[in-house]
Amino acid sequence: MSQSFDVVVIGAGPAGYVAAIRAAQNGLKTACVDNWKNLDGKHAFGGTCLNAGCIPSKALLESSEMFHKSQHEFAAHGIQIGSVKMDVPAMQARKAKIVSSLTGGIAALFKSNNVTGIRGTARLLKNSTVEVTDFDDAKKKDILEAKHVILAAGSEPVELKVVSFDGKDIVDSWGALEFSSVPKRLGVIGAGVIGLELGSVWQRLGAQVTVLEALPDFLAMADQQIAQAAAREFKKQSLDIRLGAKVTGADNGKNGITVHYEDKGGKHDIVVDKLIVAVGRRPATAKLLEDGTDVKLDQRGFIQVDEECHTGVKNIWAIGDCVRGPMLAHKGSEEGIMVADLIAGKVAEMNYEVIPSIIYTWPEIAWVGKTEEELKKQGIKYKTGIFPFAANGRAKAMEAATGLVKMLAHADSDEILGVHIFGPMASEMIAEAVTAMEFRASAEDLQRTIHAHPTLSEAMHEAALSVDRRAIHAINR
Ligand code: NAD
Repeated sequence: MSQSFDVVVIGAGPAGYVAAIRAAQNGLKTACVDNWKNLDGKHAFGGTCLNAGCIPSKALLESSEMFHKSQHEFAAHGIQIGSVKMDVPAMQARKAKIVSSLTGGIAALFKSNNVTGIRGTARLLKNSTVEVTDFDDAKKKDILEAKHVILAAGSEPVELKVVSFDGKDIVDSWGALEFSSVPKRLGVIGAGVIGLELGSVWQRLGAQVTVLEALPDFLAMADQQIAQAAAREFKKQSLDIRLGAKVTGADNGKNGITVHYEDKGGKHDIVVDKLIVAVGRRPATAKLLEDGTDVKLDQRGFIQVDEECHTGVKNIWAIGDCVRGPMLAHKGSEEGIMVADLIAGKVAEMNYEVIPSIIYTWPEIAWVGKTEEELKKQGIKYKTGIFPFAANGRAKAMEAATGLVKMLAHADSDEILGVHIFGPMASEMIAEAVTAMEFRASAEDLQRTIHAHPTLSEAMHEAALSVDRRAIHAINR
């Protein structure tokens, strides 16, 4: 049996489900096909972000931060609570409830927006129709005809050739969200976003965490002043991050997993109880296209697209983690909105220069725009403003006066070129910088914008003032 739609979206992660809802809101008859299988074998919409990434990891981060605060901060507030115990199964149950309410919410949004949600594995055929293999019965296949197809198949964890996942002790990021007890010794391969976020969750819950990172620099993609401030803080928190450490293998034995690595000093071993491999993700495009479609993949498996996410094949689009650009949920969602609007004949575009990046450690790291290193490399003249949270009243009251806001503005035009934050609630604070940069604001625009007192956002105001050596509550250097 074949069905016809204006738009068929393949994948219901944050790129695909958002594209589907927007397309339907634009009056297009839309279907969204998805094959996510949870550990219980059941289907859920939402992709990696909702089921096994952003949302469950943030649920655990919140729990672990509470636990940590109860042990290390409550006393400073005069709160005496005696000894505190962590109930990991209860924490996991809370996380599961949050995830299921949100994934169920997508099914409800599909219904209310008239999107046909289809459970199954979709493949683009060379005649531009979509073949769907049923989620429960692999023999049952269906063909969907579509005026437009949006490929939003997402990404999957990369496995290291020298360290295979065993799904129990050596796990990917999903497995690391499912531990039923706190490992005594935890190894993490990769000090990228996932390694740092999950490493800090389990470290706060009591694990002794060692992170092995192949590159010699810490957070090479971030502004290095911010990266250094974060590295110093994580060291204070006893997160053992070893740089220039290339993992060469791992053996799972009776007394734990022995991880072998090499650095400038030679060969070393560490022994851990659980090992998280977080060395990046790759586009999930291996089985997405029938041989003979004209949609092109690059060498690493990304679907080739132009600025508007068009593949070059008539009416076939691709968005999210399976195309170039940062693998970020919000980047995929915005691409979904752009493509759904373009299909509906509207004017739409994406500003790839202003995509915020966030690392949900404590304190958080967030940035948008160019780093100081990038400006230097590109020969752009700039001014720098810095404001430490140590001089922010609200941060002090929160017992969280760690880190800084750094603003980079053009030396002549004063346009804000980059904002980098290491500090409390940086993930929320960065939104102001994103809005300012989207409107091409100058540092002076933010200097003359009233920021409520006492708030963390005053640190953004002061960083803008500091660009012109006018900070009120810090020494201008
Ligand atoms: P990543 O690319 O951010 O980091 C992987 C790290 O592993 C790199 O620093 C790399 O040098 C290191 N590495 C690779 N091989 C190694 C080896 N053999 N030994 C030691 N280190 C090695 O990848 P990730 O952390 O796995 O995240 C995957 C993607 O998901 C990223 O694109 C990330 O942006 C995205 N993500 C984003 C968020 C967020 O926005 N907060 C959260 C999770 C994931």
